[in-house]
Amino acid sequence: MRRREHAASATRRYVFRRTVDELRTHEASDPRLLSVYVPEETPIFDAAARLTQERDEAADIESERTRTAVKDALTALKDRLGYYDSPPTNGLVLFAGAVDAGAEPTTEALVSPPEPVASFRYRRDTTFLTEPVERMAAGAGDERERELVAEFLDRHRAGEEATHGFERVRRDLRTGAVNHLLVSVALREDVITYECPEGHEERETVAHSRDAPDHECSACGVRVPATAGEREDAVEHLLDLADGRDAAATLVSTDTEAGERLLTDFGGVAALLRYATGG
Ligand SMILES: [Zn+2]
Repeated sequence: MRRREHAASATRRYVFRRTVDELRTHEASDPRLLSVYVPEETPIFDAAARLTQERDEAADIESERTRTAVKDALTALKDRLGYYDSPPTNGLVLFAGAVDAGAEPTTEALVSPPEPVASFRYRRDTTFLTEPVERMAAGAGDERERELVAEFLDRHRAGEEATHGFERVRRDLRTGAVNHLLVSVALREDVITYECPEGHEERETVAHSRDAPDHECSACGVRVPATAGEREDAVEHLLDLADGRDAAATLVSTDTEAGERLLTDFGGVAALLRYATGG
């Protein structure tokens, strides 16, 4: 059971890191993006009262467009706070704001971050305040990660009980051959599953930022339109499989040379196997 928990905690860390990376890229043309850090020990009603106060003060914002956007975002934040009776372990970090002018505000909640939120913070700016959570998401890059990647590299050189690449690792996970899954925390790919009219199921991986391509079935040559594919995050897909097959899983940071190699030389996906699977 310990191993199953391991893959689930890797999933949580990966989703946290991915969310932080995405929030960091947003930039608005006027100061309408809100960030709120709520420590575990701050009562929810105190945090809500502070947002009410900010909403009153927002009446003084000169630009009507900004004022409306900020009020909408504050309402969205208060709604989100209302989900909680008290802050979860390590606190809560909320973001709200319309990234595109005139759009509905989007909200993002980071619940129970890996490290405690130190103090209550509220910020309104053209960007989200992500530095504190970026530090939490940086990952250990610790000795254990280095050892695991080193073991993978040794086995890879020797050509035994190791594999890499999305499709082969996925196959070996499904058959239960994987003992330990290694994925780069910086991998940003989706997997798209296509089923042709003859029922052949095949997959392609594409970068998060790319549109899905049409797919040509390798068995019968039929073109399957991009819209027919089912798209999901490639790392979450693998971590879910690991969780279901009792395989351990470790997210590897890119702060070390070993972690950098895993991403650039091996596509960010590798596995230590229980037995050789021939590729
Ligand atoms: Zn086919």
